[in-house]
Amino acid sequence: MQKTLAIIKPDGVARKLIGEVVKRIEKNGLRISAMKMIRMNKSQARGFYAVHRDKPFFDSLTGFMSSGPVVVMVLEGQDAISRWREMMGATNYKEAAEGTIRRDFATDIEKNVVHGSDAPETAAFEIGYFFNAFEQVSV
Ligand code: UDP
Ligand code: MG
Repeated sequence: MQKTLAIIKPDGVARKLIGEVVKRIEKNGLRISAMKMIRMNKSQARGFYAVHRDKPFFDSLTGFMSSGPVVVMVLEGQDAISRWREMMGATNYKEAAEGTIRRDFATDIEKNVVHGSDAPETAAFEIGYFFNAFEQVSV
């Protein structure tokens, strides 16, 4: 059993892709054990993406992530981290495999619809960034 953090980014929410993304998650068999809509401010987005603070795209990315509401979710299942990343597709939608969310819906390397944790340690940090224990149900 593994947990991962998923985010439907501001472009995904604005383009009414919440239902589509949730449908794909449920179809894949991953369980949603927490979910809420929030809007981050710039400083909260900077904290979330702190690992990228020295990257050239950091300022633009954190501006984008705080530009509108996002849906944050905890997904649970066997190999949840890699399964969700496989469903998302490569960071650059042009390189993403067919049938992935980013290949199907992303419009830009930054505006790529979804986020997913990349390892157990980052998943633990990212889940704790948004959810306390009472907000995660047993499913
Ligand atoms: N990103 C960007 N330009 C890049 C690489 C990444 O704007 O050259 C953005 C993109 O939104 C990506 C996020 O920064 O999803 C985090 O980058 P990361 O390399 O962690 O990609 P991910 O884990 O989201 O696939
Ligand atoms: Mg990443």
